[in-house]
Amino acid sequence: MMNWSAYFSRQLSQLRDSSLWRQRQVNQKSNGRFLYTTEGKYLNFSSNDYLGLSTNSAVISAWQQGAEQYGVGSGGSGHIIGYTTAHQVLEQQLADWLGYSKALLFISGYSANQGVIAALMTKQDRIIADRLSHASLIEAAMHSPAQLQRFLHNQPESLKDLLAKPCVGKTLVVTEGVFSMDGDRAPLSDIYQQTNAAGNWLMVDDAHGIGVCGEQGRGSCWQQKVKPEILIVTFGKAFGLSGAAVLCDEQTAEYLIQSSRHLIYSTSMPPAQAQAISEAVRQIQAGDELRQQLQQNIDYFRQQAQKLPFTLIDSEMAIQPLIIGDNELSLSLSQYLQQKGIWVKAIRPPTVPSGSARLRITLTASHTQQDIDRLMEALYEFRC
Ligand SMILES: *Cc1c(COP(=O)(O)O)cnc(C)c1O
Repeated sequence: MMNWSAYFSRQLSQLRDSSLWRQRQVNQKSNGRFLYTTEGKYLNFSSNDYLGLSTNSAVISAWQQGAEQYGVGSGGSGHIIGYTTAHQVLEQQLADWLGYSKALLFISGYSANQGVIAALMTKQDRIIADRLSHASLIEAAMHSPAQLQRFLHNQPESLKDLLAKPCVGKTLVVTEGVFSMDGDRAPLSDIYQQTNAAGNWLMVDDAHGIGVCGEQGRGSCWQQKVKPEILIVTFGKAFGLSGAAVLCDEQTAEYLIQSSRHLIYSTSMPPAQAQAISEAVRQIQAGDELRQQLQQNIDYFRQQAQKLPFTLIDSEMAIQPLIIGDNELSLSLSQYLQQKGIWVKAIRPPTVPSGSARLRITLTASHTQQDIDRLMEALYEFRC
């Protein structure tokens, strides 16, 4: 018989020794241009709040007004009493904006990916996912009864080879619009073509593309003129909030309502939050200026970063990772920046492939050129 405490102590000491130890930090305020801790104030280069909407006054007052109107919680799952006009309005707004018949809200992107994949897949089916898909997608696929196969990252040819093998059941191809660790985009048009040719379905998780790419911020798929059968959008990044939605046709939505356990057995998001997300959608639709500011910051960062002695990944997006390689070195660089009043997180395996530990720098519309200069100076200094 294994003793619980002995088990934990062995596992934890292994993690400590391998420099894979993870720590949480208490922040007093973590979004926006600055991050505040009990120790001080930092320039924030670790936020996914790409457009600065988490502190947008119209979004905040939409939430406040929703709380006045509905109270702070939804009171139950959407199948019991937790589906309000605020949820319905948001679903319709998302469907209209993104060109789908239906949108269904989930409490998080993680939950949406679990809830959708678990509901749609059976034992005869297969999922063919990009190797570097987000943990929430890979985990959902591994837990589902379907067989999981992975194609080489962003390589439609590799997908084609796997698709050529027979499958008794249905096939779902899964990828992201913009990959969360490298900031690179999927070749969605080629992937869709391969997938669709044999009547298979494509599911795209556009957590990092929605709000940022494409006309009116409609995301990676719209930008690449592809309409996947299943589109996942999340509200924790460019929307500055949290939550997610799946976009699909009527029949799929009906099937999910009947069978997705994450919808049936989980309390729906607060109506006030749905109302705030609705306002964030309007801000995003009218957000060309914010997207331009973000783009200027990305261009400036990439131009300046050419001079750095680290590998810059080929990303056109707000995610601009600097590959450091070594776990220890990436940690000490992150700590050095922290001493200089700059917050950038080191991302290590297993979140990224081993040997590719990195500083995951994210830029937002709220940064100024001086902020980026400060980051660059500190990065130069570390090497000297
Ligand atoms: C962040 C992220 C998720 C998880 O979304 P949450 O709403 O934070 O749970 C899912 N997929 C991708 C690609 C992500 O980047």
